[in-house]
Amino acid sequence: MIELHNITKIYPNNVTALKNISLSIEKGEFVFIIGSSGSGKSTLLKLLLKEIEPTEGEIIINDKNITHLKKKEIPFLRRKLGVVFQDFRLLPNKTVYENVAFAMQIVEATPKEIRRNVPMVLSMVGLAKKARCYPSQLSGGEQQRTALARAIVNNPPILICDEPTGNLDPLTSWEIMKLLKDINDRGTTVIIATHEKDIVDKMKKRVIEIKEGVLIRDLQKGGYSDED
Ligand code: ADP
Ligand code: ADP
Repeated sequence: MIELHNITKIYPNNVTALKNISLSIEKGEFVFIIGSSGSGKSTLLKLLLKEIEPTEGEIIINDKNITHLKKKEIPFLRRKLGVVFQDFRLLPNKTVYENVAFAMQIVEATPKEIRRNVPMVLSMVGLAKKARCYPSQLSGGEQQRTALARAIVNNPPILICDEPTGNLDPLTSWEIMKLLKDINDRGTTVIIATHEKDIVDKMKKRVIEIKEGVLIRDLQKGGYSDED
């Protein structure tokens, strides 16, 4: 479903963020991308989202080569990808309901579809009772659950999360991880960049480790550090 062939990314200031990365991720996988700060995790996710272009190599998503998409083709790619960030990025002047509904309006869903799907996805993430709250009235975990609801409401086949628990306490982080696992169990491919050792160790999912831009480990049921 996702293939990277010999991807190198050199930023204009000559920093090489990724060096000759090749990997493939199948439909329905749950994958952690790990590595210390500055190792290249965000760069990898930004390449998938087409926020930046690789210097060398090719990226294929759902059999389509997205390495050099035309600008007008990017929205079609983005519809296949749900995204969640460390800092939630909710619209502060919209309620929980409106934040999620807005994602459906952008893809021109009908009012009927919106009235049906928004409550459904809010109850899936446990926020039905908070629909009328504004982000500032929510705890961090609730804000991230809102962001998750928004990311999945259009049913994307792939969910990309950049440090989704980076601003949350350990207990709340686990609630978010459980939700990500639920979303994955329903068939969505989930890719999570993180440096949370505890979570990665306990989840026993595929772990891809990047160090200074180089892919140094790819284990099917890995932990954060190599203990085997
Ligand atoms: P991580 O997400 O693992 O912290 P990043 O992908 O953000 O790592 O960064 C990888 C390397 O690329 C770092 O050395 C970082 O300073 C550099 N880098 C990231 N973004 C840019 C940019 N826009 N311009 C120049 N260098 C960048
Ligand atoms: P946490 O301790 O997890 O950070 P908070 O103390 O921020 O959580 O919030 C606890 C609960 O109170 C949450 O369910 C949140 O939605 C609710 N809450 C917090 N602030 C407000 C507010 N200004 N208006 C309405 N509900 C609020």
